[in-house]
Amino acid sequence: MLISFEGIDGCGKSTQIDLLKKYFANKSISYLIFREPGGTEISERIRSLLLHETDEMHPVTELLLFSAARSQLIQEKIRPLLKENKVVILDRFFDSTTAYQGYGRKSADLSSIRTLNDLATHHTTPDITFYLKISPEEAEKRTDGNQKDRMENSGADFFREVSKGYDLLAKKESRIHPIDATLSPEVIHSQIVEIIENSF
Ligand code: C5P
Repeated sequence: MLISFEGIDGCGKSTQIDLLKKYFANKSISYLIFREPGGTEISERIRSLLLHETDEMHPVTELLLFSAARSQLIQEKIRPLLKENKVVILDRFFDSTTAYQGYGRKSADLSSIRTLNDLATHHTTPDITFYLKISPEEAEKRTDGNQKDRMENSGADFFREVSKGYDLLAKKESRIHPIDATLSPEVIHSQIVEIIENSF
């Protein structure tokens, strides 16, 4: 089973992933977790280029690097694990590219992004996607004072567009479950568990 977590920076993905790890551990269900971009040696090197490169990066270069990191992760780790019927949790997946590079950065038109996502995922789609939905203003309050990487410093207008992208995706795709990320972590976690238990 492939479960992905999505949402803008500050939506609380990491907290929910930690709670879900504990849930699976308590149930003695083995799971693996990867973050995007990252998860393999090559993909982690691409991650550090993407997040820490100080020179101006062209938006298409950025789009291709996210996709390259994803392709490597899928081929090297995720596909073999799914073949063994393992539970895999992904901290971001191709919906991030649609929302961030498509709607936010407008690096390419949406149909090119879709084609690139198909190529980079090798047609792998999550069974369930949790979209932790929060306004950019609320997210900014949560991340205020944190040290921010290159991507997180993109400004409020950018994150409004990214949110719009996620909202549209969630309307279109039944695998995407929007969750109110302003609720308490425990309430969000119980909603997530309910959805997972209903799909096992
Ligand atoms: O979720 P995480 O903090 O690990 O993501 C790393 C950074 O990469 C974040 O700042 C996120 O906004 C950015 N990102 C992006 N486009 C993606 C995936 C992540 O801009 N497709």
